[in-house]
Amino acid sequence: MPARSGAEYLRGLQERRTEVWLGNERITDVTTHPALRRCARSIAHLYDMQHDPALRDELTYVSPTSGERVGLSFITPRSLDDLQRRSRMMMHWARYSGGMLGRSPDYLNASLMAEAAAADFYAQNDPRFADNIRNYYLYVREHDLCLTHTLVNPQANRALTATGHPSAEVAARIVKETDRGIVIRGARILATLGPLADEIAVFPSTVLKAAADTAPFAFAFAIPCDTPGLKFICREGFDYGYPRFDHPLGSRFEEMDAIVIFDDVLVPWERVFLKGDPFLCNRMFAETNAVVHMMHQVVVKNVAKAEFLLGVACSIVDAIGASEFPHVQEKIAECIITLELMKACLRAGEADAALDRWGVMCPHRPPLDVARNVFPKMYPRLVEILQLLSSSSLMMIPPHSALESPIGADIERYLAVANLDARDRLKLFRLAWDIACSAFGGRQVLYERFFFGDPVRMASALYTIYEKEPLIERVRQFLAREDDR
Ligand SMILES: Cc1cc2nc3c(=O)[nH]c(=O)nc-3n(C[C@H](O)[C@H](O)[C@H](O)COP(=O)(O)OP(=O)(O)OC[C@H]3O[C@@H](n4cnc5c(N)ncnc54)[C@H](O)[C@@H]3O)c2cc1C
Repeated sequence: MPARSGAEYLRGLQERRTEVWLGNERITDVTTHPALRRCARSIAHLYDMQHDPALRDELTYVSPTSGERVGLSFITPRSLDDLQRRSRMMMHWARYSGGMLGRSPDYLNASLMAEAAAADFYAQNDPRFADNIRNYYLYVREHDLCLTHTLVNPQANRALTATGHPSAEVAARIVKETDRGIVIRGARILATLGPLADEIAVFPSTVLKAAADTAPFAFAFAIPCDTPGLKFICREGFDYGYPRFDHPLGSRFEEMDAIVIFDDVLVPWERVFLKGDPFLCNRMFAETNAVVHMMHQVVVKNVAKAEFLLGVACSIVDAIGASEFPHVQEKIAECIITLELMKACLRAGEADAALDRWGVMCPHRPPLDVARNVFPKMYPRLVEILQLLSSSSLMMIPPHSALESPIGADIERYLAVANLDARDRLKLFRLAWDIACSAFGGRQVLYERFFFGDPVRMASALYTIYEKEPLIERVRQFLAREDDR
């Protein structure tokens, strides 16, 4: 089956009977529900882009198995050219949302590709698991499915988690094995885009102590989102049904986050990739290099997001005639620095890419890792800069309906600014508000801070992988120098 269209994606969601809850309501059709339907349409638009004659070659490639054109984010890069093609593809999707759709399907497509290419890693646990991950990748690629994932156990007791033991009462765990598969009971913290996905990857991430009592919590598998016993519990929705003018981002890119509950969910053996081996689970993302391919997508998204916020910041200062103030220029320069740093990290990661032991052209990890460590700190600052540059303009923005009402003339007269009439001023500052003040904007900040994991432990990961010995040796040699007498 070739790359899907938006209509095919939406039809797929309608045909699934995924159990999705929002408050006390069980959502029967996520494609028509007010909290989810407009984001579903945005994801559908990404799929439609694959069929745009002007973009088709940039977004798809010929499947090596079926000969059909499939999504380019699934490509197994064997050369730098492949990697850069994938990067351009990801940039098309990221720019569509100004980087606000963190979970466009390319994020997990690239990860799954790396896992399948490293199938021998899974064979160490069980030779069948290598076939399972390969077959699953092919299945997802050839059906162009949309994945969500969940990695983290509930925040029941982090003191316990720190010892490598999840909370046995709530964390998702294997409770039974049958000849058909494994049975999972418990919960995982969250799956972004869960209600709008076809399949869920339930993968390890928390570092488990390698001990017999942690084995039931050690697994990697993927199942359809409508598997019996699987429930998605949504947070409050941030698409309030406002017109696009008033809520330009929340009305488009509200990728819902959901808690995932497993009520004795049967995972068939052919969908199990790791089981009962905390040692392998802890290493899965790093050793398959899936984490690096995810970082690649993330840094592309960071570039698109930093471009977007810089564009908004520049539009604001132009609109209000503030562009000549030195402190304003300093703040815009900070946005430029963020953008250029992200671009440099992306470029360095690609330029120094090398074939890994799985035969995949893998971006160089350190610059991408730097970007994923620093962006969670830079993004909140970009948002703060928008607040500082906009001030009351983030509040003095009556909704669009005011323009069409008896007070429309007042709005037109009193809300115009130096370089924009009132209508365009409102439009621009509603966008700035949706980035810097709305619930949607607040969630974006939290997302950037945490979606790739706890920042403290991400920094530890960078510390661990970074090649420090040559630098220590250089210092040793310096200290041993006797050339100053
Ligand atoms: C908007 C959003 C979307 C997300 N989407 C997804 C998703 O789709 N899939 C997914 O799997 N996850 C997702 N995440 C979850 C993300 O992976 C976690 O938030 C992240 O790993 C941190 O875990 P936690 O939230 O349980 O916080 P905790 O790990 O409980 O951390 C809370 C605080 O305690 C500290 N702390 C806790 N334990 C330790 C420790 N052992 N050592 C040092 N400090 C510690 C942390 O530094 C932090 O300050 C998302 C998160 C957000 C906010």
